[in-house]
Amino acid sequence: MNSRYAIALTGAGISTESGIPDFRGPSGIWTKNPEAERRAYRSYERFMEDPKGCGRKTKWPELLGNLETAEPNPGHYALVELEKLGIMKCVITQNVDALHEKAGTGNLLEYHGSILKLRCTSCTSRFRQDEFNLENLIRENQLPPFAQVWRSNKN
Ligand SMILES: [Zn+2]
Repeated sequence: MNSRYAIALTGAGISTESGIPDFRGPSGIWTKNPEAERRAYRSYERFMEDPKGCGRKTKWPELLGNLETAEPNPGHYALVELEKLGIMKCVITQNVDALHEKAGTGNLLEYHGSILKLRCTSCTSRFRQDEFNLENLIRENQLPPFAQVWRSNKN
């Protein structure tokens, strides 16, 4: 092996053994429900246009199953072992399921985000979701926060 800086780029396929469906495989979410795909692509834009009006609960959990109880599989752990050996320098994933983090990957880039993290739409800072009591914030009508800031940033 001549490579000195190995990285892994992962997608939905690595998590199917953990019980999370992929998108375009034979039993994929988009394969089985093309309309859900069209709705998903529009949902972020709708959220940014009207955060309160678009509803507070995403449809992702029902599409993907229960991500919070999913566990890493041998594929996720193999990448952690390669990292410990100094072979794997970084894992880049498009998955939001947090299974690389749960497996123990150290240098991880989650470019579609993570179910465990929140992102500020104004300054792009990331926060761990468990730092907030989202149910209380919803009950107190504090979510989504800073709606006026989002709207003013659009203009
Ligand atoms: Zn911010």
